Amino acid sequence: MIAKSMESYVKGSSAIRAMFEEGARLAKIYGKENVYDFSLGNPNVAPPEEIKQSIINILESEEPTFLHGYMNNAGYEDVRNTIAEHLNKLHGTRFTERNILMTVGAAGGLNVTFKTLLDPEDEVIVFAPYFGEYRSYAANYGAKLVVIPPNIPTFQPDLNKLEESITSQTKAVIINSPNNPTGVVYAEDTIKEMAEILNKKQQEFKTDIYLIADEPYRELVYDGVSVPYVTKYYKNTIVGYSYSKSLSLPGERIGYLVLPDELSDFENVVSAATTANRILGFVNAPSIMQRVVADCINSAVDVNIYNKNRETLYNGLTEIGYECIKPEGAFYLFVKSPIEDENEFCKMAKEHRVLLVPGSSFACPGYVRMAYCVAYDTIVNALPAMREVMEEVKKSV
Ligand code: PLP
Repeated sequence: MIAKSMESYVKGSSAIRAMFEEGARLAKIYGKENVYDFSLGNPNVAPPEEIKQSIINILESEEPTFLHGYMNNAGYEDVRNTIAEHLNKLHGTRFTERNILMTVGAAGGLNVTFKTLLDPEDEVIVFAPYFGEYRSYAANYGAKLVVIPPNIPTFQPDLNKLEESITSQTKAVIINSPNNPTGVVYAEDTIKEMAEILNKKQQEFKTDIYLIADEPYRELVYDGVSVPYVTKYYKNTIVGYSYSKSLSLPGERIGYLVLPDELSDFENVVSAATTANRILGFVNAPSIMQRVVADCINSAVDVNIYNKNRETLYNGLTEIGYECIKPEGAFYLFVKSPIEDENEFCKMAKEHRVLLVPGSSFACPGYVRMAYCVAYDTIVNALPAMREVMEEVKKSV
Protein backbone atom coordinates (compact mmCIF):
# COMPACT_ATOMS: atom_id res chain seq x y z
CA MET A 1 0.00 0.00 0.00
CA ILE A 2 2.38 2.69 -1.10
CA ALA A 3 1.38 6.36 -1.30
CA LYS A 4 -0.49 7.25 -4.51
CA SER A 5 1.98 10.07 -5.14
CA MET A 6 4.79 7.49 -5.30
CA GLU A 7 3.24 5.28 -7.95
CA SER A 8 4.37 7.34 -10.95
CA TYR A 9 7.91 7.69 -9.53
CA VAL A 10 8.17 3.94 -9.08
CA LYS A 11 7.03 3.43 -12.67
CA GLY A 12 9.63 5.97 -13.86
CA SER A 13 12.36 4.23 -11.89
CA SER A 14 11.46 0.89 -13.38
CA ALA A 15 11.92 2.39 -16.88
CA ILE A 16 15.49 3.33 -15.88
CA ARG A 17 15.97 -0.09 -14.32
CA ALA A 18 14.68 -1.65 -17.52
CA MET A 19 17.42 0.20 -19.42
CA PHE A 20 20.02 -1.06 -16.93
CA GLU A 21 18.74 -4.60 -17.29
CA GLU A 22 18.74 -4.33 -21.05
CA GLY A 23 22.39 -3.21 -20.91
CA ALA A 24 23.24 -6.18 -18.68
CA ARG A 25 21.33 -8.57 -20.98
CA LEU A 26 23.15 -7.30 -24.06
CA ALA A 27 26.50 -7.47 -22.23
CA LYS A 28 25.87 -11.15 -21.42
CA ILE A 29 25.18 -11.98 -25.08
CA TYR A 30 27.76 -9.78 -26.82
CA GLY A 31 30.34 -9.12 -24.08
CA LYS A 32 30.54 -5.93 -21.99
CA GLU A 33 33.04 -4.32 -24.38
CA ASN A 34 30.55 -4.66 -27.25
CA VAL A 35 27.75 -2.74 -25.50
CA TYR A 36 28.03 1.04 -25.80
CA ASP A 37 26.25 2.43 -22.78
CA PHE A 38 25.88 6.24 -22.93
CA SER A 39 22.91 6.32 -20.58
CA LEU A 40 24.35 7.31 -17.20
CA GLY A 41 26.11 10.44 -15.95
CA ASN A 42 28.35 8.39 -13.67
CA PRO A 43 31.95 9.70 -13.95
CA ASN A 44 34.41 7.20 -15.43
CA VAL A 45 37.43 9.34 -14.52
CA ALA A 46 38.95 8.31 -11.19
CA PRO A 47 38.97 10.79 -8.29
CA PRO A 48 42.34 12.60 -7.92
CA GLU A 49 44.92 10.41 -6.16
CA GLU A 50 45.13 12.79 -3.17
CA ILE A 51 41.51 12.00 -2.20
CA LYS A 52 42.43 8.49 -1.10
CA GLN A 53 45.47 9.74 0.82
CA SER A 54 43.40 12.45 2.44
CA ILE A 55 40.81 9.91 3.66
CA ILE A 56 43.59 7.78 5.16
CA ASN A 57 45.28 10.79 6.81
CA ILE A 58 42.00 12.06 8.24
CA LEU A 59 41.09 8.67 9.66
CA GLU A 60 44.53 8.35 11.23
CA SER A 61 44.87 11.86 12.58
CA GLU A 62 41.43 13.06 13.70
CA GLU A 63 39.95 12.29 17.10
CA PRO A 64 37.20 9.70 16.36
CA THR A 65 34.33 11.19 18.40
CA PHE A 66 34.96 14.51 16.62
CA LEU A 67 35.33 12.92 13.18
CA HIS A 68 32.29 10.64 13.38
CA GLY A 69 30.09 12.72 15.66
CA TYR A 70 27.13 15.04 15.18
CA MET A 71 27.91 18.66 14.47
CA ASN A 72 26.19 21.94 13.55
CA ASN A 73 23.54 21.00 10.95
CA ALA A 74 25.23 23.40 8.50
CA GLY A 75 28.51 21.46 8.72
CA TYR A 76 31.97 21.93 10.29
CA GLU A 77 32.76 25.63 10.63
CA ASP A 78 36.40 25.30 9.56
CA VAL A 79 35.38 23.35 6.43
CA ARG A 80 32.80 26.01 5.51
CA ASN A 81 35.40 28.69 6.10
CA THR A 82 37.93 26.97 3.81
CA ILE A 83 35.29 26.75 1.06
CA ALA A 84 34.26 30.40 1.52
CA GLU A 85 37.89 31.56 1.22
CA HIS A 86 38.43 29.36 -1.82
CA LEU A 87 35.41 30.90 -3.57
CA ASN A 88 36.57 34.40 -2.64
CA LYS A 89 39.96 33.73 -4.20
CA LEU A 90 38.37 32.38 -7.41
CA HIS A 91 35.53 34.85 -7.84
CA GLY A 92 36.42 37.98 -5.83
CA THR A 93 33.41 37.39 -3.56
CA ARG A 94 33.34 38.06 0.21
CA PHE A 95 31.81 34.92 1.68
CA THR A 96 32.44 33.63 5.19
CA GLU A 97 31.47 30.35 6.80
CA ARG A 98 28.00 31.74 7.53
CA ASN A 99 27.33 31.79 3.75
CA ILE A 100 28.14 28.09 3.26
CA LEU A 101 25.91 25.16 4.18
CA MET A 102 27.28 21.66 3.62
CA THR A 103 24.81 19.34 1.86
CA VAL A 104 24.26 15.78 0.78
CA GLY A 105 25.30 16.46 -2.82
CA ALA A 106 23.53 18.84 -5.20
CA ALA A 107 20.34 16.79 -4.83
CA GLY A 108 20.35 17.34 -1.07
CA GLY A 109 21.12 21.04 -1.60
CA LEU A 110 18.23 21.49 -4.02
CA ASN A 111 15.81 19.80 -1.64
CA VAL A 112 17.03 21.98 1.25
CA THR A 113 16.59 25.08 -0.94
CA PHE A 114 13.11 24.09 -2.05
CA LYS A 115 12.04 23.16 1.49
CA THR A 116 13.33 26.56 2.64
CA LEU A 117 11.58 28.64 -0.02
CA LEU A 118 8.50 26.88 -1.35
CA ASP A 119 4.92 26.82 -0.19
CA PRO A 120 2.36 24.68 -2.01
CA GLU A 121 1.30 26.26 -5.33
CA ASP A 122 4.44 28.40 -5.55
CA GLU A 123 5.93 28.37 -9.03
CA VAL A 124 9.47 27.38 -9.97
CA ILE A 125 10.57 28.24 -13.49
CA VAL A 126 12.93 25.96 -15.34
CA PHE A 127 14.35 25.96 -18.88
CA ALA A 128 13.88 22.81 -20.97
CA PRO A 129 15.74 20.62 -21.50
CA TYR A 130 16.32 20.19 -17.76
CA PHE A 131 17.47 17.58 -15.24
CA GLY A 132 14.28 15.55 -14.73
CA GLU A 133 14.64 15.29 -10.97
CA TYR A 134 13.74 18.99 -10.60
CA ARG A 135 10.14 17.95 -11.20
CA SER A 136 10.20 15.41 -8.36
CA TYR A 137 11.98 17.82 -6.02
CA ALA A 138 9.41 20.60 -6.66
CA ALA A 139 6.58 18.10 -6.16
CA ASN A 140 8.11 17.12 -2.79
CA TYR A 141 6.99 20.55 -1.54
CA GLY A 142 3.73 20.83 -3.50
CA ALA A 143 5.22 23.48 -5.80
CA LYS A 144 4.53 23.80 -9.53
CA LEU A 145 7.26 23.53 -12.12
CA VAL A 146 6.75 26.03 -14.95
CA VAL A 147 8.69 24.83 -17.98
CA ILE A 148 10.05 27.22 -20.60
CA PRO A 149 10.23 25.35 -23.91
CA PRO A 150 13.63 24.53 -25.44
CA ASN A 151 15.32 27.30 -27.40
CA ILE A 152 16.41 25.26 -30.42
CA PRO A 153 19.10 25.00 -31.74
CA THR A 154 21.27 27.05 -29.33
CA PHE A 155 19.65 25.80 -26.10
CA GLN A 156 20.49 29.13 -24.47
CA PRO A 157 17.74 30.26 -22.06
CA ASP A 158 14.86 32.00 -23.83
CA LEU A 159 14.76 35.26 -21.91
CA ASN A 160 11.64 36.65 -23.62
CA LYS A 161 9.76 33.56 -22.52
CA LEU A 162 11.22 33.93 -19.04
CA GLU A 163 9.84 37.45 -18.81
CA GLU A 164 6.41 36.28 -19.97
CA SER A 165 6.36 33.33 -17.57
CA ILE A 166 7.03 35.17 -14.30
CA THR A 167 3.92 35.71 -12.18
CA SER A 168 3.22 36.87 -8.64
CA GLN A 169 3.48 33.17 -7.67
CA THR A 170 7.03 32.77 -9.04
CA LYS A 171 9.29 31.98 -6.12
CA ALA A 172 12.35 30.68 -7.91
CA VAL A 173 14.06 30.19 -11.25
CA ILE A 174 16.54 27.33 -11.69
CA ILE A 175 19.47 27.51 -14.05
CA ASN A 176 22.00 24.77 -14.68
CA SER A 177 25.18 25.83 -16.46
CA PRO A 178 27.20 23.92 -17.66
CA ASN A 179 24.01 22.14 -18.58
CA ASN A 180 22.79 18.59 -18.28
CA PRO A 181 21.79 17.42 -20.94
CA THR A 182 23.08 19.94 -23.56
CA GLY A 183 26.57 20.87 -22.33
CA VAL A 184 25.70 24.52 -22.96
CA VAL A 185 27.32 27.23 -20.80
CA TYR A 186 25.45 30.50 -20.18
CA ALA A 187 27.47 33.57 -21.11
CA GLU A 188 27.97 36.58 -18.83
CA ASP A 189 25.64 38.75 -20.94
CA THR A 190 22.89 36.16 -20.60
CA ILE A 191 23.21 36.15 -16.81
CA LYS A 192 23.21 39.98 -16.76
CA GLU A 193 20.07 40.14 -18.88
CA MET A 194 18.40 37.49 -16.77
CA ALA A 195 19.22 39.48 -13.62
CA GLU A 196 17.68 42.60 -15.16
CA ILE A 197 14.45 40.76 -15.91
CA LEU A 198 14.27 39.25 -12.44
CA ASN A 199 14.91 42.61 -10.76
CA LYS A 200 12.22 44.24 -12.89
CA LYS A 201 9.70 41.52 -12.07
CA GLN A 202 10.52 41.63 -8.35
CA GLN A 203 9.66 45.33 -8.40
CA GLU A 204 6.54 44.83 -10.50
CA PHE A 205 5.09 42.11 -8.27
CA LYS A 206 6.70 43.30 -5.02
CA THR A 207 7.94 39.76 -4.44
CA ASP A 208 11.26 38.01 -3.99
CA ILE A 209 12.36 35.78 -6.84
CA TYR A 210 15.30 33.53 -5.99
CA LEU A 211 17.66 32.41 -8.72
CA ILE A 212 18.96 28.92 -7.98
CA ALA A 213 22.19 28.14 -9.83
CA ASP A 214 22.59 24.35 -9.87
CA GLU A 215 26.30 23.92 -10.61
CA PRO A 216 27.56 20.36 -10.25
CA TYR A 217 29.43 20.73 -13.57
CA ARG A 218 31.07 24.13 -12.89
CA GLU A 219 34.61 22.74 -13.16
CA LEU A 220 34.00 20.60 -16.25
CA VAL A 221 34.53 23.12 -19.05
CA TYR A 222 36.54 23.04 -22.27
CA ASP A 223 38.45 25.41 -24.56
CA GLY A 224 39.00 27.90 -21.73
CA VAL A 225 35.30 28.76 -21.40
CA SER A 226 34.47 30.56 -18.16
CA VAL A 227 31.28 30.13 -16.15
CA PRO A 228 30.12 33.42 -14.58
CA TYR A 229 29.64 33.29 -10.80
CA VAL A 230 25.95 34.15 -10.56
CA THR A 231 25.92 35.74 -7.06
CA LYS A 232 27.91 38.65 -8.55
CA TYR A 233 25.10 39.56 -10.95
CA TYR A 234 21.91 39.01 -8.97
CA LYS A 235 21.47 39.50 -5.23
CA ASN A 236 18.84 36.83 -4.67
CA THR A 237 21.03 33.97 -5.92
CA ILE A 238 21.54 30.64 -4.17
CA VAL A 239 24.30 28.44 -5.61
CA GLY A 240 24.11 24.66 -5.28
CA TYR A 241 27.47 22.96 -5.73
CA SER A 242 28.53 19.34 -5.62
CA TYR A 243 31.74 17.32 -5.69
CA SER A 244 29.99 14.43 -7.45
CA LYS A 245 31.48 15.37 -10.82
CA SER A 246 34.30 17.81 -10.02
CA LEU A 247 36.04 15.20 -7.82
CA SER A 248 34.24 12.10 -9.18
CA LEU A 249 32.66 11.38 -5.78
CA PRO A 250 28.95 10.86 -6.60
CA GLY A 251 28.50 8.00 -4.15
CA GLU A 252 29.95 9.99 -1.28
CA ARG A 253 27.09 12.54 -1.36
CA ILE A 254 28.92 15.78 -0.66
CA GLY A 255 28.26 19.34 -1.78
CA TYR A 256 27.29 22.75 -0.42
CA LEU A 257 24.94 25.68 -0.81
CA VAL A 258 26.10 29.28 -1.04
CA LEU A 259 23.68 31.64 0.69
CA PRO A 260 25.06 35.17 0.16
CA ASP A 261 24.54 38.00 2.72
CA GLU A 262 22.68 39.94 0.00
CA LEU A 263 19.78 37.45 -0.11
CA SER A 264 16.39 38.87 0.84
CA ASP A 265 15.59 37.76 4.36
CA PHE A 266 19.13 36.39 4.70
CA GLU A 267 19.05 35.48 8.42
CA ASN A 268 15.77 33.62 8.09
CA VAL A 269 16.83 31.85 4.89
CA VAL A 270 20.02 30.58 6.57
CA SER A 271 18.14 29.44 9.69
CA ALA A 272 15.45 27.76 7.59
CA ALA A 273 17.98 26.04 5.31
CA THR A 274 19.98 24.75 8.30
CA THR A 275 16.77 23.48 9.87
CA ALA A 276 15.66 21.96 6.54
CA ASN A 277 18.95 20.02 6.33
CA ARG A 278 18.03 18.54 9.73
CA ILE A 279 14.32 17.87 9.29
CA LEU A 280 14.62 16.40 5.80
CA GLY A 281 16.59 13.72 7.59
CA PHE A 282 20.03 14.57 6.24
CA VAL A 283 20.93 16.09 9.68
CA ASN A 284 24.35 17.07 8.30
CA ALA A 285 26.49 16.26 5.27
CA PRO A 286 28.79 13.21 5.64
CA SER A 287 31.46 14.17 8.16
CA ILE A 288 34.56 12.49 6.72
CA MET A 289 33.81 13.80 3.24
CA GLN A 290 33.41 17.35 4.55
CA ARG A 291 36.97 17.17 5.89
CA VAL A 292 38.25 15.53 2.69
CA VAL A 293 36.90 18.20 0.34
CA ALA A 294 38.37 20.94 2.54
CA ASP A 295 41.70 19.12 2.65
CA CYS A 296 41.66 18.75 -1.17
CA ILE A 297 40.22 22.18 -1.91
CA ASN A 298 42.50 22.74 -4.93
CA SER A 299 42.09 19.27 -6.44
CA ALA A 300 40.22 18.51 -9.64
CA VAL A 301 39.65 15.56 -11.93
CA ASP A 302 41.53 15.46 -15.22
CA VAL A 303 39.15 17.24 -17.59
CA ASN A 304 41.40 16.38 -20.55
CA ILE A 305 40.02 12.83 -20.45
CA TYR A 306 36.46 14.10 -20.95
CA ASN A 307 37.67 16.58 -23.54
CA LYS A 308 39.23 13.83 -25.65
CA ASN A 309 35.92 11.92 -25.50
CA ARG A 310 34.00 15.07 -26.40
CA GLU A 311 36.11 15.82 -29.46
CA THR A 312 36.05 12.26 -30.77
CA LEU A 313 32.32 11.75 -30.24
CA TYR A 314 31.30 15.17 -31.59
CA ASN A 315 33.55 14.97 -34.65
CA GLY A 316 32.62 11.35 -35.31
CA LEU A 317 28.87 11.90 -35.07
CA THR A 318 28.75 15.10 -37.12
CA GLU A 319 30.91 13.48 -39.79
CA ILE A 320 28.30 10.69 -40.03
CA GLY A 321 25.58 13.32 -40.42
CA TYR A 322 24.12 13.66 -36.92
CA GLU A 323 23.27 17.17 -35.77
CA CYS A 324 24.27 18.50 -32.36
CA ILE A 325 25.81 21.58 -30.83
CA LYS A 326 29.33 21.18 -29.54
CA PRO A 327 29.14 21.11 -25.73
CA GLU A 328 31.25 23.67 -23.87
CA GLY A 329 30.95 21.91 -20.53
CA ALA A 330 29.68 18.91 -18.52
CA PHE A 331 29.97 15.47 -20.17
CA TYR A 332 26.85 15.21 -22.30
CA LEU A 333 26.10 15.52 -26.01
CA PHE A 334 22.51 16.33 -26.98
CA VAL A 335 21.94 14.90 -30.43
CA LYS A 336 18.99 15.60 -32.75
CA SER A 337 17.16 12.39 -33.50
CA PRO A 338 17.28 11.80 -37.28
CA ILE A 339 13.67 10.58 -37.04
CA GLU A 340 10.84 12.45 -35.37
CA ASP A 341 10.16 9.93 -32.62
CA GLU A 342 13.34 9.80 -30.57
CA ASN A 343 12.05 6.82 -28.57
CA GLU A 344 11.94 4.87 -31.80
CA PHE A 345 15.46 6.08 -32.60
CA CYS A 346 16.65 4.89 -29.15
CA LYS A 347 15.17 1.46 -29.94
CA MET A 348 16.99 1.36 -33.29
CA ALA A 349 20.26 2.34 -31.56
CA LYS A 350 19.71 -0.36 -28.95
CA GLU A 351 19.50 -2.95 -31.74
CA HIS A 352 23.07 -1.86 -32.50
CA ARG A 353 23.94 -2.11 -28.80
CA VAL A 354 24.11 1.66 -28.29
CA LEU A 355 22.20 2.84 -25.21
CA LEU A 356 20.87 6.43 -25.28
CA VAL A 357 18.43 8.47 -23.17
CA PRO A 358 15.39 9.95 -24.96
CA GLY A 359 15.10 13.76 -24.83
CA SER A 360 11.56 13.50 -23.44
CA SER A 361 13.18 12.61 -20.11
CA PHE A 362 14.44 16.21 -20.15
CA ALA A 363 11.22 17.74 -21.57
CA CYS A 364 12.79 17.97 -25.02
CA PRO A 365 11.46 15.31 -27.40
CA GLY A 366 13.17 14.83 -30.76
CA TYR A 367 16.64 14.66 -29.17
CA VAL A 368 18.71 12.06 -27.36
CA ARG A 369 21.36 12.43 -24.69
CA MET A 370 24.71 10.70 -24.82
CA ALA A 371 26.73 10.75 -21.58
CA TYR A 372 30.36 10.59 -22.75
CA CYS A 373 31.81 9.91 -19.28
CA VAL A 374 32.76 6.46 -20.62
CA ALA A 375 35.95 4.67 -21.65
CA TYR A 376 37.52 6.17 -24.79
CA ASP A 377 37.29 2.79 -26.53
CA THR A 378 33.52 2.79 -26.01
CA ILE A 379 33.32 5.97 -28.07
CA VAL A 380 35.63 4.74 -30.81
CA ASN A 381 33.77 1.43 -31.07
CA ALA A 382 30.29 3.00 -30.89
CA LEU A 383 30.85 5.27 -33.91
CA PRO A 384 30.60 2.49 -36.56
CA ALA A 385 27.39 1.34 -34.82
CA MET A 386 26.00 4.89 -34.94
CA ARG A 387 26.88 4.96 -38.66
CA GLU A 388 24.92 1.76 -39.22
CA VAL A 389 21.93 3.25 -37.38
CA MET A 390 22.08 6.33 -39.63
CA GLU A 391 22.21 4.14 -42.75
CA GLU A 392 19.18 2.26 -41.51
CA VAL A 393 17.35 5.55 -40.90
CA LYS A 394 18.17 6.72 -44.44
CA LYS A 395 16.87 3.47 -45.89
CA SER A 396 13.64 3.73 -43.92
CA VAL A 397 12.65 7.23 -45.14
N1 PLP B 1 21.79 18.65 -10.88
C1 PLP B 1 22.13 18.19 -12.09
C2 PLP B 1 21.94 19.08 -13.25
C3 PLP B 1 22.68 16.91 -12.25
O1 PLP B 1 23.00 16.48 -13.49
C4 PLP B 1 22.85 16.10 -11.12
C5 PLP B 1 23.38 14.73 -11.23
O2 PLP B 1 23.59 14.18 -12.28
C6 PLP B 1 22.48 16.61 -9.87
C7 PLP B 1 21.95 17.88 -9.78
C8 PLP B 1 22.62 15.79 -8.62
O3 PLP B 1 23.97 15.73 -8.26
P1 PLP B 1 24.46 15.08 -6.89
O4 PLP B 1 25.03 13.75 -7.21
O5 PLP B 1 25.52 16.01 -6.40
O6 PLP B 1 23.31 15.03 -5.97
